[in-house]
Amino acid sequence: MAQAVQTFDLVVLGGGSGGYACALRAAELGLSVALVEEAKLGGTCLHRGCIPTKALLHAGEVADAVRDSAQFGVDASFEQVDLRRVNSYKDGVVSRLYQGLQGLVKGRGITVVQGHGTLVAPTTVEVGGVRYEGSHAVLASGSVTKSLPGLELDGERVVSSWEAMQIEQVPGHAIVLGGGVIGVEFASAWRSFGAEVTIIEALPRLVAAEDVACSKVVERVFRKRGIAFKTSTAFSSVERTDSGVRVTVESGDTYDADLLLVAVGRGPNSAGLGYEDQGIEMDRGFVLTNERLQTNVSSVFAVGDLVPGMQLAHRGFQHGIFVAEDIAGLDPAPINESGIPRVTYCDPEVASVGLSEEKARERYGDDSVESLTYDLGGNGKSQILKTQGFVKLVRQKDGPVVGVHMVGARVGELIGEAQLICNWEAFPDDVAPLVHMHPTQNEALGEAHLALAGKPLHAHS
Ligand SMILES: Cc1cc2nc3c(=O)[nH]c(=O)nc-3n(C[C@H](O)[C@H](O)[C@H](O)COP(=O)(O)OP(=O)(O)OC[C@H]3O[C@@H](n4cnc5c(N)ncnc54)[C@H](O)[C@@H]3O)c2cc1C
Repeated sequence: MAQAVQTFDLVVLGGGSGGYACALRAAELGLSVALVEEAKLGGTCLHRGCIPTKALLHAGEVADAVRDSAQFGVDASFEQVDLRRVNSYKDGVVSRLYQGLQGLVKGRGITVVQGHGTLVAPTTVEVGGVRYEGSHAVLASGSVTKSLPGLELDGERVVSSWEAMQIEQVPGHAIVLGGGVIGVEFASAWRSFGAEVTIIEALPRLVAAEDVACSKVVERVFRKRGIAFKTSTAFSSVERTDSGVRVTVESGDTYDADLLLVAVGRGPNSAGLGYEDQGIEMDRGFVLTNERLQTNVSSVFAVGDLVPGMQLAHRGFQHGIFVAEDIAGLDPAPINESGIPRVTYCDPEVASVGLSEEKARERYGDDSVESLTYDLGGNGKSQILKTQGFVKLVRQKDGPVVGVHMVGARVGELIGEAQLICNWEAFPDDVAPLVHMHPTQNEALGEAHLALAGKPLHAHS
């Protein structure tokens, strides 16, 4: 029985990237906000996703740098990766950011409600018998690990990314089911830590959501790094063995390992939260919204992974900011989802924004698309780093750049400029006169635009 009702301008259900960004912006705009969170503010990204995985990948990068130091004339001997200490470094990063976030939320006067919330009326969330009623509600309960039919995770040998980021010993051999973003990131980190890794992927290529040219480089470098992968290979079953797991694929081939990481995607976290009972339109657990992130119930909005589309933290942040501003009456322009940049932080990194060449050809027609690939071989800083890869531009013929695709060490850091170019619909001629610092990898972006504008410098015409 609900005992009390507290009222707010806005009640946000879920304190992850989408929910807390919405709460912060709404409070900044003078709205009273209740933010309901059952675990920790920061959600998947901060505690179970972006931040911890990138810390693991960085530790892997350090291990590789030590192993490969002789090629730079530096003699060092690699001894081991102590995952307990790696974890404490990783957890330290998370906990500092968590403290900072708690401080921010407190500083803006947001009422944080700790506990499991359910939507009991369109804009009312109940937590432990108390009702928090808003003029508006924002659903931000995020996503959870998906599995395949008949594939049960035991958290020990058959694990999700959450358990995978807490293991305390480098596995001798790990199988990663799924060659998408999460799968290749773990495969990359674990290989850097010294594990044998095999990726099993049903689609014909790794990082299949990216431009095919990027997949090719990732596959080539992974082969060189000793990461095994089987593409176009469908999982059939897994059994526990004395020493770990045996995975069988549809052809009947089997793979033995210490550990199976299931990285086949994430689904919406909405079951049992009362959304359907309140008449909110859903599709397979996702909350459907219009371009203003408003559900069919006009006072209820949804943000982040709960809304069909790319599951990325910065998309969640932007959703949250947008909804807060919309509710506050600022009438922000709808978010252009196709302009959201993406980075896969494996080694080599993949970074992209806009349309792949294939998608651009489908959209505009074969004759109306032009592409240019600038090899990082011509880029001084990339040579210094001894990395290979490219910057590929896709443009509408005589029109703007509609896609930028990059692969190679550290290219994730170049996506900021690339997304400005794409989202401001710049022509190659607009970018060509802009000066890029030398020697940086950024220059590769500048050079690619020079070349596409018909005036290549360090590239063959
Ligand atoms: C391993 C991994 C790596 C990733 N790496 C990246 C990356 O590098 N870059 C990137 O952009 N994205 C990355 N992501 C994706 C990113 O984490 C998500 O897109 C982002 O967290 C989505 O934010 P959200 O607010 O929609 O949901 P979430 O962050 O999942 O937040 C939802 C929150 O709601 C709370 N909640 C749910 N139900 C209730 C309830 N009933 N009552 C109270 N609270 C509730 C949860 O506890 C959670 O805190 C990664 C994800 C994973 C799993």
